[in-house]
Amino acid sequence: GCVLRAESLSMTYAEGKLRTPVFAGLDLAVRAGETVAIVGASGAGKSTLLHLLGGLDTPTAGEVHVAGHRMSALSDAERGRLRNRALGFVYQFHHLLPEFTALENVMLPVLLAGGANGEADRRARDLLTAVGLGHRLEHKPGELSGGERQRAAVARALVNRPACVLGDEPTGNLDEKTAASVFELMLSLNREQGTSLVLVTHDRELAHRLDRVLELHEGRLRQVG
Ligand code: ADP
Ligand code: ADP
Repeated sequence: GCVLRAESLSMTYAEGKLRTPVFAGLDLAVRAGETVAIVGASGAGKSTLLHLLGGLDTPTAGEVHVAGHRMSALSDAERGRLRNRALGFVYQFHHLLPEFTALENVMLPVLLAGGANGEADRRARDLLTAVGLGHRLEHKPGELSGGERQRAAVARALVNRPACVLGDEPTGNLDEKTAASVFELMLSLNREQGTSLVLVTHDRELAHRLDRVLELHEGRLRQVG
């Protein structure tokens, strides 16, 4: 089935230039386990699309369905719970909480979902070990390298075993070698856990490693390659 579906999605920012739509009538369906790259020029609307898919913003028209739930039919609290349970987010900046250790940062989504402390601790340890940070559990973000911080962010995105991870330039702040290794990590977690990936990236080479590459251009999504 589809883990993520956008139907006739339109977005116009109220305070935007001449209120021009960023896009209108856009459709997208992401199947379970599928990996999709979204590419396009700066300002094309990639981040806007990702925000709508992740329920961080409300479309002007159209619908987003996450794991079978229509986002607009949910209350803010229900939408928040669905986002924490069904989706994982990785951004260009890691957004780890600086005063907490790597372990605590990764435990947090489990605790927010109502998981017990022991369960959160076990899953966070397992996942941090899987991303190569088994020796950095007690380190705070400020004590980690850029690549390590992004690996911890990937672990945090996956700890609730989401149906889909949404990434906005998740490797954009890393040098080429580190970016490649974090990208490989996301692909291996996709293969092992069947998590769908939707990644915004300007790196065409990385994009073409995914199942589908979609280019957002003048408000339309078209398949590339
Ligand atoms: P991309 O991620 O492809 O660079 P964005 O989604 O960030 O594109 O932006 C698409 C367009 O929407 C741009 O013209 C941008 O200026 C505009 N935009 C993005 N966010 C907002 C906002 N909150 N308010 C007004 N305009 C916005
Ligand atoms: P990106 O490289 O992803 O385009 P930006 O720093 O330009 O990063 O913006 C990140 C996101 O913040 C945008 O995609 C948009 O959704 C949101 N944003 C941008 N401008 C505004 C604004 N004025 N008010 C609220 N949100 C905004």
